[in-house]
Amino acid sequence: MLDTTIAGSLPKPAWLATPKALWAPWRLEGAALEEGRRDAVRLALQDQEEAGIDIVTDGEQTRRHFVWGFVEGLEGVDFSKMITIGIRADRYKADVPTVTAPLTRRGPIHSAEARFLRSQTRRRVKFTLPGPMTIADTIHDAHYGSRARIGMALAALINEEARELAALGVDVIQLDEPAFNVYMDEVREWGVEALNRAVEGLPCKTAVHICYGYGIKANTDWKKTLGSEWRQYELTFPLLAGSRIGGVSLECAGSRVPMSLISLLGDKDVLVGAVDVASDRVETPEEVATVLREAMKHVKPSQIFPCTNCGMVPLDRELARAKLRALGAGAALARREL
Ligand code: ZN
Repeated sequence: MLDTTIAGSLPKPAWLATPKALWAPWRLEGAALEEGRRDAVRLALQDQEEAGIDIVTDGEQTRRHFVWGFVEGLEGVDFSKMITIGIRADRYKADVPTVTAPLTRRGPIHSAEARFLRSQTRRRVKFTLPGPMTIADTIHDAHYGSRARIGMALAALINEEARELAALGVDVIQLDEPAFNVYMDEVREWGVEALNRAVEGLPCKTAVHICYGYGIKANTDWKKTLGSEWRQYELTFPLLAGSRIGGVSLECAGSRVPMSLISLLGDKDVLVGAVDVASDRVETPEEVATVLREAMKHVKPSQIFPCTNCGMVPLDRELARAKLRALGAGAALARREL
């Protein structure tokens, strides 16, 4: 009960990539980069295990950005045609590649990483993939002509990939869809259908992560415009309750999301964000437990998986470690009360 997990990413070691930056360039190349990424995964696992995290990830140590890891493995994307666009409804600018032809996978994209992750821990492992809408929002489309069309094409490719990962022993596949808090109409029109397509036929557990973004300035500024209560989830959760997705990872710590909204998720797993990634202050275990107790007023304890609000890749590494320990200790505290 109250098995812990993390949204996905952890900071990378300074010898691997520039610290505290998104899209940080690698500091190694060739065989040294391959070895360095594997070593970083070992360290990420060690940090999680020591903190008492039950369902671990590779800390996304092998990808430059949570979207690029998958997109770099696709045919039909031209990385020599980078253009600057406003993503997440123009909240911030990003240089993105152009889709110039039908999208296909060149072959398995993350199989080697999943195999390595599986070999390095006895704990349950979660693998994260970007969701169809979030990829569609982080790419320039010069081929499909509509976000729904490219989104459904991406969903089919994510499904191919996810089936292979599940066959390698991955216990949970999580799709990251921060775009679901931005394009509420599109979520209804095609977003949930795309998620259903992406997880079709998977034998493992599944989840979708929907957050208000990393703790970077563009996001904290955006949050100030959202009013005293953030109710975006109120529109999407009833749709997700009726979807094939097994669980939802959301932001609860230090946010203005009314906790009562999680009752809209029906019997889904709820990955309760009990650690804030937008603050440099380390939560106490008691604070983490308080968030979990609040969540348990609205859904059954058996549905709850204590988690981080979002990825921790832009954080200071020691800070992220301390937050992991707070999460593990806070969950243990709440568990003892059950
Ligand atoms: Zn997130």
